Parts: sequence; structure tokens; C-alpha cells
Amino acid sequence: MDCDEARDLLDAYADNALGLGEAARLNHHLQDCATCRAELDAIRDLGHALRAQAPYHRAPDALRRRVLAGLPQGAAAASPRPAQPGGRTVGRGVRAWASPANVANLAMGMIAACALVLAAVLWLQRPTAQGLLAQQIVASHVRALLSGHPIDVISTDEHTVKPWFNGRLDYAPPVVDLASLGFPLVGGRVDYVGARRVAVLTYHAGGHPIDLYLFPTTGGTAAPQTRSNDGYSLATWTAGGMRYWAITDAQAAVLQRFVQDLRSASS
Ligand SMILES: [Zn+2]
Repeated sequence: MDCDEARDLLDAYADNALGLGEAARLNHHLQDCATCRAELDAIRDLGHALRAQAPYHRAPDALRRRVLAGLPQGAAAASPRPAQPGGRTVGRGVRAWASPANVANLAMGMIAACALVLAAVLWLQRPTAQGLLAQQIVASHVRALLSGHPIDVISTDEHTVKPWFNGRLDYAPPVVDLASLGFPLVGGRVDYVGARRVAVLTYHAGGHPIDLYLFPTTGGTAAPQTRSNDGYSLATWTAGGMRYWAITDAQAAVLQRFVQDLRSASS
């Protein structure tokens, strides 16, 4: 498991919502990764803060007075009525509880709780590491297309493209030609995503380019996950110590077939 995959699972892990197998794999990663441990601590700290602090926020006096002033007249003037002999006392209890001060406290508590819930929602909706990488890959893909120079080494021959990366990267990307399956290799380039230089192989699918980003990962094998960002279809998976990202403006089904063909040709 690599950090990308680990971070996607941390929230569920903190909630004890992972399956046993996944939890064990993540545990294993956490033993060796201080960064992910720190992120898990941050998630747990937020949870503790929410549970411990939400009910105890007191509003400033000025805000309390404004809320009280804004309450309907009846609420501020309400006064407990004596209970009828033998009658139910619940009504009186509720009315006594609903004194202006208590209502204001409740309102303040709700405002404070809402603020904390909002903070929690924003925290949970923060982009995952994988989401951020997807955004960078879309940006890189679009940048290359707009530059009018999307390919540094133009060749349909994997034996030309593969050695071209020598000296330009600190790893040797596997290069597979899929021309016989309808996805001819048209070249490659080096780009910069996820704070590192990565190999990009460009294939064609009909009239559409497919960019394949690949770089080493410490994780094991993971099945393709697909998503769409800004009108582009993306797929990512890991195999053979590499993480792959494929992106295209062709239909999602075309990308799916490309990923399938590439994975069977590489295995
Ligand atoms: Zn990690």
C-alpha cells in the first residue's frame, strides 16, 4: 500500500469502519510511514475535539442578548404555571426549562454545534491525495495539448521511446505498444506532477490522444479506479511497482478498453 491509497482509507480507519483485511494492510503501512501516522493523529484529534467541546461552547454576552431580543414576545414572557393537582407535571417541567435564558443557551449551543459540524464537513470533504493528483494530471494533460508540443520523442516504436527516458528519469518506465489493439503509441515526454518528474506515454484512440502517466510506487497491485474531472476520463491503478494514470477526452468506455488492453499486454 502506498501513501495515496493509505490516505484515502484513513478516515474510515479512524472510525473503525474498515474491513479486517484492509485495516491490516493499512496498519502495516502506518508502522513504516510517519506522514500517514501524523495525518491519522490529526483526524483523531478533530474527532476528540468535536466530541469533547461541542456542548460546552458559551456564547459571548452580547450575542446572547441579541438572540434573546430576537425571540418572540411570548417566549420571553412565558412563566411556569402551577401543575393541577393529580395532573401531569411534564408540561410544567418543559415550560420551566424553556425559560429565556435556557432557550438562549440552547440557541448558542446549536450555533456552536453547527459551526463545529461545518468544520467537520469541510475537513471530511477536503480533497484526498488521489483527488489532488487527478487535478494535477488534468492540468498537465491540458497544458501539453495547449502547448502544441505534447510529445518530446515522436515515435511509434517502443524500442525508441523506452531508451529516450534514460537519464531523464530516475526509473525505467515500461513501454508497451498497443497498435494491434487499436491504440498506437505515438510518443512520450517527461512531465512534472505530484512533486516529481514522471514519464508520460501518448497513445491514440481514434482521433483522441490518451496520456499515460507512470511512476514507481511502494504499493502492491490495485484494480483500476475511474473518475471524470473537467470533462476528461481518468483511470488509475498500480501494477508491478508502478502507479499508472490514464487520461483522455475520449469516451469513458474507450478509456476502459485501453486500460484493460494495456493491463493484459503488460502482465
Ligand atoms: Zn504513508
